[in-house]
Amino acid sequence: MQGLMMDMPLLISSILQHAARHHGDAEIVSRRIEGDIHRYTYADCERRARRLASALGQLGAGPGDRVATLAWNGYRHMEIYYAAGGMGGVVHTINPRLHPDQIAWIVNHAGDRFFAFDITFLPIVEAIAPKCPGVKAWIAMVDADRQPGSAAIPGLLNHETLLAQGSEDWQWPQFDERSAVALCYTSGTTGNPKGALYSHRSTVLHAYGAALPDAMGASARDVILPVVPMFHVNAWGLPYVCPMVGAKLVLPGPALDGKSLYELFEAEGVTYSAGVPTVWLGLLQHVAANGLRFSTFNRTVIGGSACPPAMIRTFREQYGVDVIHAWGMTELSPLGTLSRLQNRHLSLPAAEQQKIFEKQGHVIFGIDMKITGDDGAELPWDGKTYGNLMVRGPWVVREYFGGEGGDPLVYDEQGRGWFPTGDVATIDAQGYMQITDRSKDVIKSGGEWISSIDLENLAIAHPAVANAAVIGVAHPKWDERPLLIVALKPGASVTREELLAFYEGKIAKWWTPDDVQFVDAIPLGATGKILKTRLREQFRDYRLPTA
Ligand code: ADP
Repeated sequence: MQGLMMDMPLLISSILQHAARHHGDAEIVSRRIEGDIHRYTYADCERRARRLASALGQLGAGPGDRVATLAWNGYRHMEIYYAAGGMGGVVHTINPRLHPDQIAWIVNHAGDRFFAFDITFLPIVEAIAPKCPGVKAWIAMVDADRQPGSAAIPGLLNHETLLAQGSEDWQWPQFDERSAVALCYTSGTTGNPKGALYSHRSTVLHAYGAALPDAMGASARDVILPVVPMFHVNAWGLPYVCPMVGAKLVLPGPALDGKSLYELFEAEGVTYSAGVPTVWLGLLQHVAANGLRFSTFNRTVIGGSACPPAMIRTFREQYGVDVIHAWGMTELSPLGTLSRLQNRHLSLPAAEQQKIFEKQGHVIFGIDMKITGDDGAELPWDGKTYGNLMVRGPWVVREYFGGEGGDPLVYDEQGRGWFPTGDVATIDAQGYMQITDRSKDVIKSGGEWISSIDLENLAIAHPAVANAAVIGVAHPKWDERPLLIVALKPGASVTREELLAFYEGKIAKWWTPDDVQFVDAIPLGATGKILKTRLREQFRDYRLPTA
């Protein structure tokens, strides 16, 4: 027997329509590349997104057509998300921090037909345009009177002029919720980029899940500023979550330094934010150096790489900001787990609670996870045994765009597919997962594993250390031993011996790195993560003193 409820496809256009109708006056505030602050409402955004969708249609965009963006977080980027996706096309967000050759490769691989960009990136676009013959129209996202001319891009269109040509009366079409809506390539820190192709259904379900109180916990009382870029896995879903719950949305544009962020947080009354650990280093340094306080900011999601425990403590203890440590990946839209306290944890001493905040957390309903040994057998949830982390759920990829790499799933005895995350983790009896390492980064010493994340977290807690990375280097007896690579804070000094002594009593003695190397800066990849591949190359000829 079938249920007798209405059958409404889960489409992203319904999120923006809901916001326009039920939170019509909630604001979207954007710092623009033009330099000023722009503000309008969800109702304005929905109206303009419809006009833009209609105009894209006039240009010849149809269902399934990829519309690429190379853009900061701003209202025009929001309009393209909803216009391209809502009309049945696919928004393909591209990370501008990638090398132009890589961007051209991704554009061609994705088969992008339209390409919209903030004019900050005009030099990149001019470099790639001749290499991307499949792109039919290039669109500059800027006021019409600031439209740049470009010999390299004949017929360059303008977002505002284009939008003005669209029809006010155009309405969102209804179609199969399994249709593709957005495309995002993995950052390629561990190989060639591969595309994760999200559907309307997966995107709406992910937004519902992300908004739950023990996940991101977003509400109409919040003012949310995603520092995480809209090109980094859809800003972790916030462009969908915020209109879904009617939160005021603040988009920081290109100004991601500590000072600009702090000023925007204060001016707009931001309560909630999200970003990778490296962006918070800048904000915390600015706030500390100038003796500032946050007047409204009370919680932030931190993920993308392990959040150092020292950062969690500083936010909580010095600034009263709750840190929600989150784990996810491009292939998971991206949210998988978040770490928040449960009833049973409320009476624990602060030090015990801190240990929970440091974990990557509990799954959201929708995601299931397990850890397995190399033989595929499931391992116990005891918080100690570590294994390969596998996930499944309606917002997890089942296949990459273009079938790249074949079937990525691993099947269990019931024939159910699990996505192997490439992460090594423990799960405790209460279902809290903790990442030990990426399987490629874990250090294998004498048949035992050493977590590079644990060693990095401890090093970062040293007052002289700005950033730290630990890699495994070849050792004749132990196979691999850890090498600590550190960049010091400006003006700070510390010796190799002092750093190694800092580990004493905090970890098993045999985990202590064999040596320390000082560098000016730790290389970061396009999404702010430590580029271990680069470090491994840099230290390829390095020999440990113990070898
Ligand atoms: P890429 O895999 O190309 O680097 P993603 O942004 O998809 O791009 O990265 C996902 C990976 O980032 C995860 O598999 C995991 O290794 C790491 N990661 C994400 N969040 C965390 C976290 N909170 N702690 C530790 N590692 C994390």
